[in-house]
Amino acid sequence: MSEKVILGRTLVEWKKRLPLLNEVIDLKEVFWTNPMYQTASEPSSLSFKNIMDAEERLARFAPYIAKVFPETENSSGLIESPLISVPQMKRGLEQIYHFELPGRLLLKCDSHLPISGSIKARGGIYEVLKYAEDLALKHQMISLKDDYSVFADQTFKDFFSRYSIAVGSTGNLGLSIGIMSAKLGFNVYVHMSADAKRWKKDLLRAKGVNVVEHNSDFSEAVAQGRKQAAGDPHMYFIDDESSRHLFLGYSVAAIRLKKQLEDMNIQVNEENPLVVYLPCGVGGGPGGITFGLKQVFKEHVHCFFAEPTHSPCMLLGLMTGLHDQVSVQDFGLDNQTEADGLAVGRPSGFVGKFLEKEISGIYTVEDEKLFTLLTILADTEGIYLEPSALAGFLGPVQLLKSQMGGNNKLDVSLKKATHIIWGTGGSMVPKAEMKKYYERGI
Ligand SMILES: *Cc1c(COP(=O)(O)O)cnc(C)c1O
Repeated sequence: MSEKVILGRTLVEWKKRLPLLNEVIDLKEVFWTNPMYQTASEPSSLSFKNIMDAEERLARFAPYIAKVFPETENSSGLIESPLISVPQMKRGLEQIYHFELPGRLLLKCDSHLPISGSIKARGGIYEVLKYAEDLALKHQMISLKDDYSVFADQTFKDFFSRYSIAVGSTGNLGLSIGIMSAKLGFNVYVHMSADAKRWKKDLLRAKGVNVVEHNSDFSEAVAQGRKQAAGDPHMYFIDDESSRHLFLGYSVAAIRLKKQLEDMNIQVNEENPLVVYLPCGVGGGPGGITFGLKQVFKEHVHCFFAEPTHSPCMLLGLMTGLHDQVSVQDFGLDNQTEADGLAVGRPSGFVGKFLEKEISGIYTVEDEKLFTLLTILADTEGIYLEPSALAGFLGPVQLLKSQMGGNNKLDVSLKKATHIIWGTGGSMVPKAEMKKYYERGI
């Protein structure tokens, strides 16, 4: 075999340094605990203040959101999802995977976030609002103290129609950016990767969004969007690979979650740790939420990312320490997965680096398991998620098994843990599509 060099080392050298790579390359499910993990987070370029700033911006826009998206009227324009207990699913998991899960199992239903039905309704919508606010402030159309429901006025729509927004997406980010931008009056271009589902493109076109289809994967769709916006001062590019705004939009979830846990009388402390499982694509969503949770709960929260066996980009980035310099294709993986929201071959340029001491671990999940889990969740709790969003549910199984096997450096008592599965999407999937998913899981 010829000794191909991958980023400065031969494959043999890489495998010797990182034995787990053998399994990753063979598409086996792995559970990786982060050797760089540190309980105390270091001072960094972003802080709790930045999260509060994002939360306050969303609060300013709440009257506008409530006005133009009536489904948010009950929450006064707050875009938030329920946190629910899923005891039947817990039993289902224990039976099927032959293990016992002490503590409680909760589901964070970002699948049911209003407006765009996925985790992207956090970061994506936030960044569009931030851009709109910046423009309106710059042109003295509003002040920070105004009632932002004026953003619904025709004068604002006419003003924003002179500007464009571009984004690259595997589907859900496109939905969030497309719907929000079009509502404000922007011209919007969504560059979709080949993984993007037909119904997502159709839905966007029906809302007047320009959908640009690419035969390539996520990284290339992002590159095309970036290229389109470069040099056009009236076109704003939302960069899923490196945006701090997206990241902060996601991070607000932590403040909301704290309140929801308090309302449920659930304590978070050394004896009662929080373990959170987040499906990961490019890393912005799970990263932003991890950043927020670490700010709020410090060493008492443990965040694990979940990736498809065919697209473990964040895992490779962190394991090798090469972050966005490495792609799954470099190691011979194809980035082909049914989990369209996670079909990303190269991780974010900053999330992995920024959180390399804060992410507790990453595990991978085979596609077929996502469908099995989808069907179990539907049968036990009557909740329907999209395949990507099920990746979290294998986390407690993997964690408990790896802890029992003793091959896990996580020094934490799980006896009274609260496990939160981040259900990242699914409420907008058309019924016929969902039926196919469900049947596949049987
Ligand atoms: C985008 C997405 C994720 C992951 O978010 P990233 O920011 O890409 O890591 C997880 N689940 C679903 C359903 C998504 O659409």
